[in-house]
Amino acid sequence: PSAMREVAVDVPKVSWSDIGGLEDVKLKLKQAVEWPLKHPDSFIRMGIQPPKGVLLYGPPGCSKTMIAKALAHESGLNFLAVKGPELMNKYVGESERAVREIFRKARAVSPSILFFDEIDALAVERGSSSGAGNVADRVLAQLLTEMDGIEQLKDVTILAATNRPDMIDKALLRPGRIDRIIYVPLPDAATREEIFKLNFRSMPVSEDVCLVELVQHTHRYSGAEITAVCREAALLALQEDINAEYIMGRHFRYALTVVTPRIPDSLIQFYA
Ligand code: ATP
Repeated sequence: PSAMREVAVDVPKVSWSDIGGLEDVKLKLKQAVEWPLKHPDSFIRMGIQPPKGVLLYGPPGCSKTMIAKALAHESGLNFLAVKGPELMNKYVGESERAVREIFRKARAVSPSILFFDEIDALAVERGSSSGAGNVADRVLAQLLTEMDGIEQLKDVTILAATNRPDMIDKALLRPGRIDRIIYVPLPDAATREEIFKLNFRSMPVSEDVCLVELVQHTHRYSGAEITAVCREAALLALQEDINAEYIMGRHFRYALTVVTPRIPDSLIQFYA
């Protein structure tokens, strides 16, 4: 039985418009993946090669996974996702086989996007891991072999995500492999406003809720944390009155004291 039978192929339903802000990130990905697929002749005319792989890096909870799904959806590509740590937690020899298998599957349903979340677990810089070094080296070697076997455009585009780009072995980031690197930052004020508005589309938010205030008070929050604030506010409204019809300003104010930004200063400094 295949080690990777649990990896599902699908066309996700996430659209660009479900992702607040990040316009330049969206544009860069369209240029890198969508344009070459839709206008291959233009790329040949300009004498440039589309990237085989793109790395998204940045703090957790800032929509890297959503972006990968939206790119697949909007470009009409099949989508396969694996988490680095899942591949590593296999029996001896199983990890390499799992890598081979996922690429085989991605090619079989091409054109497709193969998304490696937490790729740092898979492609740790050689020599930097203690003990399990051998497995890590073999998995990385397998990953490089598979990437080198991919033909641009025709089949599989690799998308990878990490919070720690510095941990990734440089061999993976060479030209012809994952050679486009895009930073996905914490949401700025305009993006936070959009994320609130996206959440509000499906929530009965009272008129006394001040969006400007919420945006001001969520400096340093990730998109995931903003979504958590909205959920917490709704739960508080229900806790007060299970038949509540609206989520009030006070619920949000309280939610902001319950959900606080968790990304450590050290990580923010690291990206700066
Ligand atoms: P991790 O690095 O932890 O895997 P991630 O960067 O891949 O996180 P996602 O899982 O894509 O982040 O995002 C987490 C959740 O946060 C999303 O499901 C969504 O609800 C919310 N979110 C984050 N950023 C945005 C955004 N820009 N617009 C809308 N929702 C967002």
